[in-house]
Amino acid sequence: MSSPREEYYGILDLLQRHHGWFRESIPLIASENVPSPAVREALTTDFGNRYAEGWAGERVYAGCRYIDLVEFKCMELMKRLFNAEFVDVRPISGVVANLVIYTAFTDPGDVMMALPIPCGGHISMGKRELGGTAGAVHGLQVEYLPLDYEELNIDVERAEKRMAKLAKEGKPPKLVLFGGSVFPFPHPVKELADQIKSHGGTVAYDAAHVAGLIAGGRFQDPLREGAEAVSLSTHKTFFGPQHGSVLSWERHAEKIKRATFPGMVSNHHLHAVAGVAIACAELLEFGKEYADQVVRNAKALAQALYERGFDVLAEHKGFTESHVILVDISKYGDGGSIEKRLEDANIILNRNLLPWDIKRGRRYTEPGGIRLGSQEVTRLGMRESEMIEIAEFIKRVVIDKEDVERVRKDVAEFRKQYQRVHYCFENNTEAYEYIKIR
Ligand SMILES: *Cc1c(COP(=O)(O)O)cnc(C)c1O
Repeated sequence: MSSPREEYYGILDLLQRHHGWFRESIPLIASENVPSPAVREALTTDFGNRYAEGWAGERVYAGCRYIDLVEFKCMELMKRLFNAEFVDVRPISGVVANLVIYTAFTDPGDVMMALPIPCGGHISMGKRELGGTAGAVHGLQVEYLPLDYEELNIDVERAEKRMAKLAKEGKPPKLVLFGGSVFPFPHPVKELADQIKSHGGTVAYDAAHVAGLIAGGRFQDPLREGAEAVSLSTHKTFFGPQHGSVLSWERHAEKIKRATFPGMVSNHHLHAVAGVAIACAELLEFGKEYADQVVRNAKALAQALYERGFDVLAEHKGFTESHVILVDISKYGDGGSIEKRLEDANIILNRNLLPWDIKRGRRYTEPGGIRLGSQEVTRLGMRESEMIEIAEFIKRVVIDKEDVERVRKDVAEFRKQYQRVHYCFENNTEAYEYIKIR
């Protein structure tokens, strides 16, 4: 048996090995990003060891002098960034932000509409039978928004019909939650908002994936299109620490505040709130340029993959208007084993269900697709020409079935030139540098 001291060094060694691995890899997971050194510095501070229950300035705890100042600053910057009347920066993740919205706007037993998981919905919108947060935790009855498979977007006409049918049956949706985890095109919020409101429902929008693009003015603007509340993750295209937030209007402030605390959090990860404040400042300064490059890179990567024989979905629409692209990989194998082979070549992405997979008997472990996101490689300073190189690496692994070790060496060599985080104010450490403060 190892001694506690050996275990201690063993754990620290694993952390360092993770950093070494990511330094040599191509990170393409659509829900991740690399924060700036300043955000990482905030995460190491003593804020992470404190409590500040309640609203800033009205805390239940002492010792919050600076914590309050930072949280006020965070709210002010986030309001500016999203042109929002009200924000709550305390939800500790996107799932918790969704739960805050469910709690503020619905009661258990109410009907909510959202996309199903194979069509890009997230497990936090899922039915009770799936263990999804909406169904299993808040007791909502989840009905699905229909997806047009060709357009990779919500089918407005069918959605209208489904909503009218639910209303006729006496169960109109109390909440319609737009957004998803495969989110290549802006959702028809303004097209559906009036009907949702006419049935007495609330329009909400899950911006977990696209928050950084909205901040950069490069996607839709849900608050101006009819959304009453917007949930965020602050670490996907929004390049802060892992955390969440809710954007809304002054008229909903009190019920959202109460849903967050005492409803959903006790401590709310104050070091992360500080990191979000810093990321807001960075996005205010660099967000437009960043979001623009993220979308250009996603399109360039999709085009390069397509030209090499990959079935990238939504070709007729230019593949994507966000950071994410979806590829039907089924002619080369299943998404699970392809994900693994790519990982062995240090290309990190994830397998993904295609909208029709479940109906065709495929399962989550061996889906027909892979999902790629351009936001993290953009943060590392890559542009369109690097997307072509990445597509070529993917082709060598998946289509040419080249030896993964050889590709891995070339990937590591390629990565050497992209070691800094871009779109931030200061940068004295590498993107994945292991920071030792012992
Ligand atoms: C990632 C994601 C979430 C959850 O975010 P966490 O911050 O990981 O809790 C919620 N909704 C959607 C659509 C997501 O993709």
